[in-house]
Amino acid sequence: MTEQSDQIIFHIDGDAFFASCEQSTDMSLRGKPIAVGRERGVATAFSYEAKALGVTRGMSGKEIKEQFPNVLLVSSDYRKYGLYSRRFKNIVRNMCGEIEGMSIDECFVNVTYMAKSYKDAYMLAAKLQNELCTKLGMTFSIGVGPNKTIAKIASGMNKPRGITVISDLNIKADLYPLHISRVSGIGFNSVIKLEQLGVYTIADLVAKPDGWTDDFLSKPYRELVSELQGNFVKPLVLIQDKPKSISKIRAFTPATTNVDYLKSEFARNAEIIAKKMHRQGLQAKHLVLAMKTPKYEIGKNSIRIDIIPENPIVSSQDLLQLIELHFDQLYLPHYKYRATYVSVHSLNDISEQYDLFGEVESRRTYRSLSDLTQTLEKKHGPFVLHTAASMSAIHQHSYIHPNKSNNDVGHYDGMPLMMSPHNDKVLYIPYLGVI
Ligand SMILES: [Mg+2]
Repeated sequence: MTEQSDQIIFHIDGDAFFASCEQSTDMSLRGKPIAVGRERGVATAFSYEAKALGVTRGMSGKEIKEQFPNVLLVSSDYRKYGLYSRRFKNIVRNMCGEIEGMSIDECFVNVTYMAKSYKDAYMLAAKLQNELCTKLGMTFSIGVGPNKTIAKIASGMNKPRGITVISDLNIKADLYPLHISRVSGIGFNSVIKLEQLGVYTIADLVAKPDGWTDDFLSKPYRELVSELQGNFVKPLVLIQDKPKSISKIRAFTPATTNVDYLKSEFARNAEIIAKKMHRQGLQAKHLVLAMKTPKYEIGKNSIRIDIIPENPIVSSQDLLQLIELHFDQLYLPHYKYRATYVSVHSLNDISEQYDLFGEVESRRTYRSLSDLTQTLEKKHGPFVLHTAASMSAIHQHSYIHPNKSNNDVGHYDGMPLMMSPHNDKVLYIPYLGVI
């Protein structure tokens, strides 16, 4: 079990965000009951003034007109909401540090280093709330707690414009009596199952002994329970604004004509890029490969090719395959090279939509390997794992083709496992990664 948390986390959540964006940009809507979604004929969001009258989500435009003639129906403008979202997150970032974005109008920030006590944290939250209100013309509610799970519940407890602190002083009085459906992460079906097991409130859940938790709950739920007990289990996933492209250049001396070495350098570039993409849940639709020559003879100073692959790039394996496929186009035997360059463009959020041609299984394997890599790196530090194809770059020119190695020591998830020729504590999967 983790130590009692000594962290202080904020969860900041926009109050009636879409309606507030509309009211912020149109003075005539301020303080009025409005519903957003006119273009669809359905209320998708509404202001607190409309909520007070009794407007509910999903009500049709016609119903609203009939039952609430004072409610103004306005069209949604998602570009506007996106713009406000970016401004909101920038204000939080500037004031409190890097954030974990949760949705368009929500984010987490760890304020432990700015607030030594919950009292400090409260003052900081009040200051942040004021700043957001002044700069954006709308209100936000802030939950303050020892971890993300509790901060998230807290932000919803006193809306709108609430600041709710849950610390070890009031966790039992204020958090434990709440129904389990208030916990983000316990879905509708899980609520039913838990109720069947006699668990209704957070107090019921956290009172269960570890053995019960292990028997009845999956790992994510066990983590959730631990956080509800006040521990800090799930660190923030800090994400800068998602990039449009990611690139990596690797220079080396002496310049070389060695194909295997150049490929292994490319593989290291690919590995670093894939790691960044994975961390941010991104896929790429455009790849640029280039190599630099010492004397800048060709074109400007590099030989480059643009590749638009059939399927989006999601893993280092995808990158390695494309590098292998296109390397000959790039490589001119008469030149020595001093740097490799890989960049991925047209990045967007990863989706499962491309799994149309039976590729889902293999891609899932690479994805789970990436997950594994991340887990181990968190534990043992960065770069404990590498794709086997990049081993020569790591071990200074001593490239050993993993498929030709005699060090086959078994299988992992159906794939052959190799012993590293350089380090008997390292196992790796050819071209995929070390475990
Ligand atoms: Mg909200």
